[in-house]
Amino acid sequence: MLFVISNIVNPHTPIENLPGVGFHYAKKLKRLEIKTLEDLIYHFPFRYDDFSQISAISNITPGEKLSIQGVIWQIKNVRTRTGKFLTVATVADKSATIEVIWFNQPYLTKTLKAGTPVSLSGKVQLEGNRPKLISPTYEVIRNYEYRIMNQEENVAKTLTRNSNSIIQTLHTSRLVPIYPETEGLSSKWLRAKIANYLPIFLKNSKDFMPKSIITRHKMLDLPSALSKIHFPKKYEDVEFARKRLAFDEIFTTQIMSQLRKKEWQEARTAHQMKISQEKLAKFVQNLPFTLTLAQRRAAKEILADLTSKRPANRLLEGDVGSGKTVVAAAAALVAHDNGLDTLFAAPTEILAFQHQNTLDSILKPLGVEVGIWTASKKQRGDITCGTHALLNSFKTKRKIGLVIVDEQHRFGVAQRAKLFLSHNSKLTPHLLTMTATPIPRTLALTLYGDLDLSILDEMPKGRQKIATFVVPNLKRNDAYKFIEKEAQKGRQTFILTPFVEPSETMASVKSATVEFEKLKNRFSEKVKLGLLHGRLKSREKESIINKFKAGKIHILVATPVVEVGIDVPNATIMLIESAERFGLAQLHQLRGRVGRGEYKSYCFLFSDSRSENSAKRLKSMEKIHVGFALAEIDLKMRGAGEIFGLTQSGFFNFKVADLSDQKLISQAQTEAKKIIDSDPNLKKYPQLSSKLTSLNLQYSQPN
Ligand code: ADP
Ligand code: MG
Repeated sequence: MLFVISNIVNPHTPIENLPGVGFHYAKKLKRLEIKTLEDLIYHFPFRYDDFSQISAISNITPGEKLSIQGVIWQIKNVRTRTGKFLTVATVADKSATIEVIWFNQPYLTKTLKAGTPVSLSGKVQLEGNRPKLISPTYEVIRNYEYRIMNQEENVAKTLTRNSNSIIQTLHTSRLVPIYPETEGLSSKWLRAKIANYLPIFLKNSKDFMPKSIITRHKMLDLPSALSKIHFPKKYEDVEFARKRLAFDEIFTTQIMSQLRKKEWQEARTAHQMKISQEKLAKFVQNLPFTLTLAQRRAAKEILADLTSKRPANRLLEGDVGSGKTVVAAAAALVAHDNGLDTLFAAPTEILAFQHQNTLDSILKPLGVEVGIWTASKKQRGDITCGTHALLNSFKTKRKIGLVIVDEQHRFGVAQRAKLFLSHNSKLTPHLLTMTATPIPRTLALTLYGDLDLSILDEMPKGRQKIATFVVPNLKRNDAYKFIEKEAQKGRQTFILTPFVEPSETMASVKSATVEFEKLKNRFSEKVKLGLLHGRLKSREKESIINKFKAGKIHILVATPVVEVGIDVPNATIMLIESAERFGLAQLHQLRGRVGRGEYKSYCFLFSDSRSENSAKRLKSMEKIHVGFALAEIDLKMRGAGEIFGLTQSGFFNFKVADLSDQKLISQAQTEAKKIIDSDPNLKKYPQLSSKLTSLNLQYSQPN
């Protein structure tokens, strides 16, 4: 079987083509960004359940997480008085027997028959004096040989281990990997598939890292690292695996950014533009507002780029609402003055139309025509706005001097822009990328050495600040009273329940549900509550969100992973539980969900932590209202890993690397530089080269 499959499967095989996956699961897997076999293998556990302690039944300690291995002695379904099913089994190993109980899973008796060897993991509880194993995870031990003996004989003597198998058990009796999940895709399912396909993947892929580097840094080879991160024998295995995989991430990013820089700066010439101060002055006068100092500074930096023969590659960072568009408009105007067109790419069609509108109102009075290029409407202008797909399909005989990429989440589009640029004309357009994700300058420079950076660290005047308070638990009641009062005025509140795990596992859902039940009794009957979490069906989610929008729900209790990207101008309070578990920049983005209307808005932060540092850190939310500045604080206080939290991997494409690990970053940087300096075309490193090609393709996929 393994041989047959491994001949038709390679790392880039689409996930739906893998035997045992199919279209139905492929759709769900895509929600986790898993599109190929390689993606599946690179879907890493975010923690492990430690069930590695295998106890003799005579020896078990109630309350502890443990595993037992034995044979089902007898098993039956019992109906309770309330009509529910109990499955009651006796399991024996060579030391003793124990009673095992499962609730409402009568079908278990089909798999777990008398005589079946099983491995069980869970917690032992005492009932009366007798220990019982309640609802353990179970697994038939297929690679055990067994024979049912006469009743009196000791059953477990017949359990003989088949030591040829690498993974003896998968879901029990080990460090059990827990994965980021999604609706209808459990860790158990993922674990089974990964275990199945890992050997095939390893057989078909080679380690791209030069041997000398592996030796110098005492790292694992790639197959060992991948095996150990999924199926470690001990925690130490995980540590070593993560070190190797983190090194890979930083190292490949470094090589790519250094190659890009070389290629971008040395091999290309851009349109060198002239700037008319007169036109610019007119542009500024025409604006319905005064530019902030940050906007002036950023515009100056970008315009300076345009006057150079060297093609610009600049990143403009600023919170949502900081006014990035007008800065881009100034650059587009200069391009127009020089007889050059601008392409302006947005992540969605709606945003593309919005940009067209905005730019049109600013630039039309100056004689600049702004067009649109999307699936539904195509009309060229001196500046043409469109979706990111525009970069592939847009053709023009006019000269493009500037490409602006507005992207809220993903960085990868810029790479795609460059692919487009490279086969367009002899002269290269300047490139400006805009993002609302606050990457601190130091971090951006370490990782994206090929970019220049401009930052809008100031909001336009007159924006309302969300009044933010770190609320001590003693004053929790006051906070609820305040929420009740606001509700009576018709205002609405978000309550985000504790952040449990970086993916919507049952633990998060449970914590939200418990909080919801608790809160119901805290408010008068007139105040209506709703519950929103990722395990709800899309239709249920939609219905709750619509009710909230319509004002029929006053308080929306939600898990933090749920997308509350809804614009409700009537919402005035954002309450966040266990706020210390979030990055500050993330908290800032969350509180941005309120204060969108005319009403004064508030953010209440609760914390479980007693640490002074943690309190100080949260307190900075009260004073600072720029996401970018908050990110810098987190970088200093907690290291980079904390800054982006949930969104981090989405942005950097890092799954393992801890960006505060300066030592690792600098080692990987040094090795990358050595390679690029000695062999810029990677002639001596064909495997590395093909790894980079595959990463490049991955980054440049549309969202
Ligand atoms: P973002 O950085 O999120 O792209 P926008 O460019 O869309 O922000 O600007 C948000 C809003 O702020 C727009 O309505 C814009 O007209 C307005 N704006 C931009 N700059 C200023 C300013 N200096 N003063 C007042 N309003 C401004
Ligand atoms: Mg914008």
